Amino acid sequence: MQNRTYTADAEPGDSVTVAGWVHEVRDLGGIAFLILRDKSGKIQIKLEKDEMDEELVETGLDVARESVVSVSGDVKEEPRAPTGVEVVPEDIDVMAEADTQLPLDPSGKVDAELSTRLDNRTLDLRKDEVKAVFEIRAEILRSVRDAFRGLNATEINTPKIVATGTEGGTELFPITYFGQEAFMNQSPQLFKQLMVGSGLERVFEVGPIFRAEEHNTPRHLNEATSIDFESAFFDHTEAMDACEHVVKAAYEGVAENCQRELETLGLAEEFEVPEGEFPRLTYEEAIERINATGELDEQLVWGDDLPTEGERALGEDVGEHYFITDWPSEIKPFYIKDHDDDETLSTGFDMMHPRMELVSGGQREHRFEHLVAGFEQQGLDPDQFEYYTKMFKYGMPPHAGWGLGGERLVMTMLGLDNIREAVLFPRDRQRLSP
Ligand code: ATP
Ligand code: MG
Repeated sequence: MQNRTYTADAEPGDSVTVAGWVHEVRDLGGIAFLILRDKSGKIQIKLEKDEMDEELVETGLDVARESVVSVSGDVKEEPRAPTGVEVVPEDIDVMAEADTQLPLDPSGKVDAELSTRLDNRTLDLRKDEVKAVFEIRAEILRSVRDAFRGLNATEINTPKIVATGTEGGTELFPITYFGQEAFMNQSPQLFKQLMVGSGLERVFEVGPIFRAEEHNTPRHLNEATSIDFESAFFDHTEAMDACEHVVKAAYEGVAENCQRELETLGLAEEFEVPEGEFPRLTYEEAIERINATGELDEQLVWGDDLPTEGERALGEDVGEHYFITDWPSEIKPFYIKDHDDDETLSTGFDMMHPRMELVSGGQREHRFEHLVAGFEQQGLDPDQFEYYTKMFKYGMPPHAGWGLGGERLVMTMLGLDNIREAVLFPRDRQRLSP
């Protein structure tokens, strides 16, 4: 549409064409107001019954809420209008009429269930506070990409249809690939490792991961967005530094460029970019601290995975982002390297928000013999992974990296209760459409 002006840019004295959705029509008798909404905001259109063309006024009064209209006219200063200006229309064109019955109310006056909202995302995102979440999500992705580029990492895209899983078989979605069994990939893990051994050295990927999670929880999706990083010649501590840098960059980007959205969400006051170094606790310290909170019925012992309530108790205790390092080797995946001086200790780490895990990472096993032995120990057939392991025979540098859950980052940053609020079209046990 040529010569279209965003409502936010309409200045008194301008002659404009604005286009958008009918937010509301307020009929006060002799005078009526049509509120038009677009990506940039809202503007008042004045309809004066005795002063203006009858047909024009009627068009404005009769149009159903949420219809798409374009309005041409002069912009006038009007202190009583919500934005201090109004348009005196010369022409109103109804471009797409909306049904008078809507499945949900975009003005937000009537609350809708999450499932109704997800079934009608188009209408749902006409609400400022829902739109704000996705504007912020986009800013987070932009900021992390910038941060990765600042670290001289190259963006890659790896296959999502694969012959074998990486994180064990139970969470795999099988598909049929020309008559052959294949799977939706759970993680770009193996591919990004193959690329640190290539000429690229340091890589990142922002892409979908698929996990056949058994249960619906507020923090698991069956299709999630993973923000992955992997670098040659990094150990786990350098990978943690990069992780902290990238997460802070996401917060900084939002603080800098999303003030309006934060205000819409009521977060402008409390929003804080994490400062200082994220504390680094060993797994041993973590279980001691969890046990000391007294929140768990049973005390944790070495080798236990951290239960959700344990993570929550520790998160409250620490009160900021933190790392858990030096996990028992047996509860970290085979591709993670153990400490050279203690094989029972893994270089694997998790980065936690007080509410939940955001990141898992570690230094990787780059020695061919150790890697193959690790596959066997985990009950996996190394032959199936030959495409991967064989590259470790041709000069694979030491390397480290991590994977960050994109939706969990959005969710924890904005204090959302349910991870589904951070995805346009979530996939869960019940939801395959839209
Ligand atoms: P959790 O224990 O919380 O289920 P995980 O340890 O199985 O997570 P990883 O394999 O370590 O997950 O994946 C790295 C990151 O990807 C996680 O820290 C999390 O942020 C994100 N992630 C993993 N699975 C999911 C999922 N099903 N839905 C949303 N995000 C996920
Ligand atoms: Mg993990």
